[in-house]
Amino acid sequence: MSKTFVVVAEVRGGSLRQVSLEALQAASIAKNEGDTVAAVLIGSQITTLAADLAGYVDGRVYAVDHPELEIYNAEAYFDAVQSVFEQVTPDVVFLGHTALGRDLAPKVAAHLGAGQISDVTAIEQNGGEAVYTRPIYAGKAFEQKSFTGGPQVVTIRPNNLAPAPSVSSPGEIIEIDYAPSGSLRSIVKDIVRKTSGKVDLTEAKIIVSGGRGVKSAEGFKPLEELADVLHGAVGASRAACDAGYCDYSMQIGQTGKVVTPEIYIACGISGAIQHLAGMSQSRVIIAINKDPEAPIFKVADYGIVGDLFEVVPLLTREFRKV
Ligand code: FAD
Repeated sequence: MSKTFVVVAEVRGGSLRQVSLEALQAASIAKNEGDTVAAVLIGSQITTLAADLAGYVDGRVYAVDHPELEIYNAEAYFDAVQSVFEQVTPDVVFLGHTALGRDLAPKVAAHLGAGQISDVTAIEQNGGEAVYTRPIYAGKAFEQKSFTGGPQVVTIRPNNLAPAPSVSSPGEIIEIDYAPSGSLRSIVKDIVRKTSGKVDLTEAKIIVSGGRGVKSAEGFKPLEELADVLHGAVGASRAACDAGYCDYSMQIGQTGKVVTPEIYIACGISGAIQHLAGMSQSRVIIAINKDPEAPIFKVADYGIVGDLFEVVPLLTREFRKV
């Protein structure tokens, strides 16, 4: 029997999040012939974004557009998703493994009576059955899971799957009426961004990350310059955050953000297990550390033994020439 896959896409800072296109790609890997893929977009003034999204979807795009949905609110977004489910009954729902996805997915799963597989980094087809890979034990091992029945909810870790390619004929956009409940138990009035980062850390292709070895807030400047040249983002170890060199929103690791960039440049970071939990799945790891025995070199693909205050500006200068 054919299945309906529904991808809940995300808007951030007025743009579609890259992970939403990766979730669409996930759905296209997991689906079988005859299955359909639809997308849901929730937000305020999203007409253009819905049209952009339709450029990647073969099936329908359900757009729920209302001022109340401008900022993510668990109750409001859940109501919005429910109004979409009155039009389409999903067998499998995909979301990004983002702050929004991690909050919304279990609500959707409970509502559908679905099983959930979270933080998926790879998907394979095994004779018509989708097999999902996810890291466990802070990235030390991987487990492969599949569902024994439906409905199903899956969250996709950003930056692990290729984004869905554009389709030749854009999907049909269906506008869904959203009736504000008028009784939301909490509302977000404003979001004050603490980082000035231009690139979202969890979606950055390149991350330049600093640790206690950076020594001060001022010491992060050369890292910011390198990140700028590489169009990347700046991250940090918890020790650097604890020392007040940078904001906690930049923390990578077990109790910070989990990132999977194409290139992770660790500067003055020793490589504690809790830090590795957040970045060891990066495709290429480059470590700059003055201690040749630093554990980070065990996970690094390339290691530079040296003073970061010499090496980082040197790299910036060379990359500027490219
Ligand atoms: P250090 O371990 O002090 O390393 C500094 C490194 O800088 C050294 O290797 C040194 O050789 C190098 N260095 C110094 N000067 C220079 C220089 N000029 N040039 C080049 N290299 C230089 N940590 C995280 O990062 N993320 C987490 O999410 C996290 N969660 C935690 C959760 C728990 C429950 C606990 C207990 C700990 C957690 N930690 C986390 C902390 C973690 O254990 C480490 O303390 C922390 O990662 C160390 O950060 P660091 O590598 O920057 O500092």
